[in-house]
Amino acid sequence: MEETKNETPERNLNFLEEIIEADLASGKHSSVMTRFPPEPNGYLHIGHAKSICLNFGLAKKYGGKTNLRFDDTNPVKEDVEYVDSIKEDIKWLGFEWANEFYASDYFDQLYQWAIVLIKKGLAYVDDQTQEEIRLGRGTVSQPGKESPYRNRSVEENLKLFEEMKEGKYMDGEKVLRAKIDMAHPNMLFRDPLMYRIIHTSHHRTGDKWCIYPMYDYAHGECDSIEHITHSICTLEFDVHRPLYDWFIEHLGIFPSHQYEFARLNLTYTVMSKRKLLELVRNNFVDGWDDPRMPTICGLRRRGYTPEAIRMFAEKVGVAKRDNIIDLSLLEWCLRDDLNRRSNRYMAVLNPVKVVIDNWEDGKVEYFDAPMNPEFPDGPKRRVTFSKEVYIEREDFMEEPPKKYFRLKPDGEVRLKYTYIVKCVGVVKNADGEITEIHCTYDPTSKPGAGEWRSVKGTIHWASVDHSAMIKVNILDKLFTEEQMGSIPEGEDYKNYLNPNSLIVKDAYAEEDLLKDNSGIAVQFERVGYFFKDMKNGGYNKATGLKDTFKL
Ligand code: ATP
Ligand code: MG
Repeated sequence: MEETKNETPERNLNFLEEIIEADLASGKHSSVMTRFPPEPNGYLHIGHAKSICLNFGLAKKYGGKTNLRFDDTNPVKEDVEYVDSIKEDIKWLGFEWANEFYASDYFDQLYQWAIVLIKKGLAYVDDQTQEEIRLGRGTVSQPGKESPYRNRSVEENLKLFEEMKEGKYMDGEKVLRAKIDMAHPNMLFRDPLMYRIIHTSHHRTGDKWCIYPMYDYAHGECDSIEHITHSICTLEFDVHRPLYDWFIEHLGIFPSHQYEFARLNLTYTVMSKRKLLELVRNNFVDGWDDPRMPTICGLRRRGYTPEAIRMFAEKVGVAKRDNIIDLSLLEWCLRDDLNRRSNRYMAVLNPVKVVIDNWEDGKVEYFDAPMNPEFPDGPKRRVTFSKEVYIEREDFMEEPPKKYFRLKPDGEVRLKYTYIVKCVGVVKNADGEITEIHCTYDPTSKPGAGEWRSVKGTIHWASVDHSAMIKVNILDKLFTEEQMGSIPEGEDYKNYLNPNSLIVKDAYAEEDLLKDNSGIAVQFERVGYFFKDMKNGGYNKATGLKDTFKL
């Protein structure tokens, strides 16, 4: 039966899959080669995760391969620290690259190709200042002005370009430009820069080079060297595509092609590396891996799983138009994954003591509870019940509204996995705050003993003498504004930092929590999913239990 189903599989292809299938069918390409090209100038974030899932996912689907290529063409901002973290994050997400390359591996080849273009009369050395070059570009409505150095002879250009490489000139003194068309409607074609002089040591090539290629010159060539068939990038690069093609065409090299998709934007989130770096440098957060950060290492520390992030990338899909995805979709994916996989424990975060008056002093009883109720026949844990337990303050109301089914004076609730208790009184301090709730328990309500009596409310609890004190880090959104992307450039996005994004408190939890070795977040029943922080030992609230997102 399965076979017949598979004969007409559902063909719900995204536009990139359609392109790839057409290219394979027409024989344009016999296999698929993609790349993920991060600039090692910061840690990867959830937007990069989307791009990783897409690049690696497409290659995998069509039996191809993906290279990891560090786009390290700007020595000023780049660092090995970032290279290492990027590799760790990609591996953690569950992907393997075919080769690890660096744009700097190709500096010699790129230099040779620049000479080819000079010899073809398609590139020249310009002595104008950065400002003169900028002004000379013209505007969208006005053509640019040709540089007075534009018509240098090939020989002179070759000599000057070599001298640039030899270090004869200072930063900014000269640049190499492609010679295309100063009146071109696409501003990028108005003699774009190919090389600039930067006298800075490079994290891989050291002091070998003092000229560095520009993105537009380098990227397509690097793709071409690696025989990348489908070079996928974000939408803002669509105006660069003709230039990408121009270099490849005039060099006559492997015809890599660029395809653009919409970058991922999330509500309540800033994603640019520059801004994230600023949050780190100014100590607004506790490093790149602060559990409130949208970085992959932050999400990992918070309790996100690779499975949840991959599911999210899948659900977001591939769009051709910019859009903003609801942060709650990301949370939905985490819940969906953890609901199936996480161990359950009870923990009380805002405790008030309950004393069971008719329970013998010192008596203890044990009850079985499933590690995960999704699998009732699966592994069990043992919870310890005794005369004094903590419950959440919110689970008691002295003057409750109608339909309040938790504990109230003269009301009954079941303490999860154990007895039904009835509130018989409260003790208050001088400020009128409840310090103790007194209850009696119904011995006949013991689970498994006799007929099951049901009451409307069931609440979680923790035995005063048999629970572990833990720290919990209650995490909330880092920003208060939903549309962080709409904040004007002039306004400081940091004004929207949420002052309550981290609240640390003590809590009481089942002792067995301390022995949990599942390696993923656990569920505190009725409260949320929590993951032990690798640095401060507290339990990070990865997400709550309630969905605000509707699929
Ligand atoms: P940022 O603007 O956040 O600093 P970037 O684009 O400069 O990011 P790169 O290291 O150049 O960062 O990005 C590597 C790859 O990840 C690129 O192909 C880029 O298009 C992709 N990418 C970056 N941000 C996003 C995003 N928000 N959504 C999808 N893909 C992204
Ligand atoms: Mg970039």
